[in-house]
Amino acid sequence: MAIIIDADKCGHIQNCPGEGLCIKLCETGALTDVDGDVAVDDSKCDECDLCIQNCPNQAISKQ
Ligand code: SF4
Ligand code: SF4
Repeated sequence: MAIIIDADKCGHIQNCPGEGLCIKLCETGALTDVDGDVAVDDSKCDECDLCIQNCPNQAISKQ
């Protein structure tokens, strides 16, 4: 399983209603701001689903 961020739904972090909420919520450091977009490090993700459940744009899913 891997975390997928839909770039069209997310837009950019500066447009996120939660101001990059997923990055703030992720406790393992798997999500980071890379040039204004969210990047995922699958090796750090423990699939807690917090980011999926709380993204205001429903931009995050698992594949
Ligand atoms: S919480 Fe959702 S909309 Fe906000 S930066 Fe993360 S993926 Fe994008
Ligand atoms: S599922 Fe949990 S550990 Fe994985 S990126 Fe989202 S918040 Fe971080």
